Parts: sequence; structure tokens; C-alpha cells
Amino acid sequence: MTGNDDSAEFRATDLVIGYPGLDDPVIDGETIEVPPGEITALIGPNGSGKSTLLGGLANQIPPDDGTVLVDGREVASMESKELARHLGLLAQQNTSPDGISVENLVERGRYPHQGFFGSSTPEDEQAVDDAIELAGIEHLRERALDSLSGGQRQLVWIAMVLAQDTDVLLLDEPTTFLDLHHQLDVMTIVESLRDDSEMTVVVVLHDVEQAARYADNVVALRDGRVHAHGSPADVVTADLLADVFGVDAAVLDTEYGRKIVPLDPLDSRESEEAGE
Ligand code: ADP
Ligand code: MG
Repeated sequence: MTGNDDSAEFRATDLVIGYPGLDDPVIDGETIEVPPGEITALIGPNGSGKSTLLGGLANQIPPDDGTVLVDGREVASMESKELARHLGLLAQQNTSPDGISVENLVERGRYPHQGFFGSSTPEDEQAVDDAIELAGIEHLRERALDSLSGGQRQLVWIAMVLAQDTDVLLLDEPTTFLDLHHQLDVMTIVESLRDDSEMTVVVVLHDVEQAARYADNVVALRDGRVHAHGSPADVVTADLLADVFGVDAAVLDTEYGRKIVPLDPLDSRESEEAGE
């Protein structure tokens, strides 16, 4: 715990994360502070290491070096079920058993809370009901997951990690490929987790404007390195869009928040040489 704040402390120091067969680690010695009870957005171009970093933070890809602390405890030293009671990860791609119902998938989120025989308690049932309600999918409860649209399915996956009832939640591009309505559904849920449940959320967002709008903090990755971090106002700038995303963009502060108008792709070789 940090001072008088009940939200989970979450910090990664000198993280090194790679894959077998790669010569160099993808993330090579980065330190990430995730302020408790806030929304931290991770942005960066394709292949910049966002999913790798999230996987490392959740110990899904065990880091080669460095430490990840949740509430002062080292993630790598926790047994997987115990870790899953503190920290939930919704990956970028998820596979489900054929024919599973919405309710049964959400119930799977309770697994880390259950004993060896997996019998569910009234507390489990309450957590499942609460998650289904918060995700707004009550009307889909009996449906087969396979029969749903992509947007509906994403809300079900989110309900599953909500049922897990963790202090820290990591979401990898939960809004990518969703229609506008479902994007707003997802981001509204994320906001309410922060505001009503004091959750600490790290969310990878493909949409930089969405990051500027919803996040309290933005971490921008480029080539596996933290290029910038801070408030959206400080991080989401025309310079950042040029340096990190390789685009010339107009950045406008409007009554609807910060808006980005991408104008032209920059020649990446030119901008890299200019930066040398
Ligand atoms: P992002 O999520 O930002 O698009 P990723 O973390 O998926 O980026 O990928 C970062 C780098 O790691 C890329 O160069 C990618 O090719 C590499 N990478 C990702 N997954 C694997 C894997 N399973 N094996 C080897 N390399 C991988
Ligand atoms: Mg990714």
C-alpha cells in the first residue's frame, strides 16, 4: 500500500523480456511506474513491444531479468493462482473452448479463487453476477460465445477478468477492431473500475486519441524502449507522433479534448538520421 491509498502498488524495475531464438531481448532494461488507482495507457507502433511488456508484467512471459512488484511482493515468486488473485491479464488474442456459454466463460475468471475441486461459493456467484452486470451483458448470459459479434465477445472476455476480482488489471488492445459503441462501452467500464473499484489499470491502446482522452498517464514505447511517459498533455504531442509513430500530425486542443489529425507518413530513415 502507498500511504493512505488503498489501490495496489505496481512497479517494474530494469525489466528484460525476450523470446527464445531471438538474439536480443525485446525489452532491455526498462523501468515502469504504474500509479495506483489510475489508468495508464501504453502506446506505440506495431512491434514496439507493448504486448511483450504486458506479458512480462503479468509473468506470462517470465522476464529474464528485473523485478515486478505488486503490493510490495515480487510477481515472479508468486504461485500462479495467487498471482491471478492480484493481477488479471486480458491478452490481445484469446481462445475459448468450442461452444462455451457466456456465463461459463465468465465463471472461469473465478478459477484462482477456487479450491482443488473448483466448487463455486456464493461469493463466486456474486462476483460472476457483478461482472456480467458491469459489462452490460446480462442479455447474453445463456448465449454461446461463438455466436456473438466481436464487440459482444470482447465484453464477455472483459467480464471474465472482472470476475477474477483483482487489484490490477492489464488489458491488451481491448478496443481494437470494435465499433464505436463497443469501444465506448469498454472505455466506460475501464473508467468505472478506476472510479468505483480503485483498480489500477494498464491498457494498451492502438488509438492514441483514446489514450489521451481516458488515461491518467501515458507510456510511449518505441523499439522496446520507453520513449516518453507522463500525463497525456505532456506525452501526446506532435513531436511524439513524429518520433514514435513516424507521422506528421496536427495536434489540436478542442472542447472535446486533444484531437490528432495525421497528415503524412514521415520517411522513417530520414527521421532516424535526423535524430542521430
Ligand atoms: P506490439 O504489441 O507493440 O505490437 P509485440 O510485443 O507483439 O509488439 O512484439 C514486439 C517484438 O517482439 C516484435 O519484434 C515481435 O516480432 C517480437 N515477438 C513478439 N512475439 C514473439 C514471439 N512469440 N517470438 C519471437 N518474437 C516475438
Ligand atoms: Mg500487441
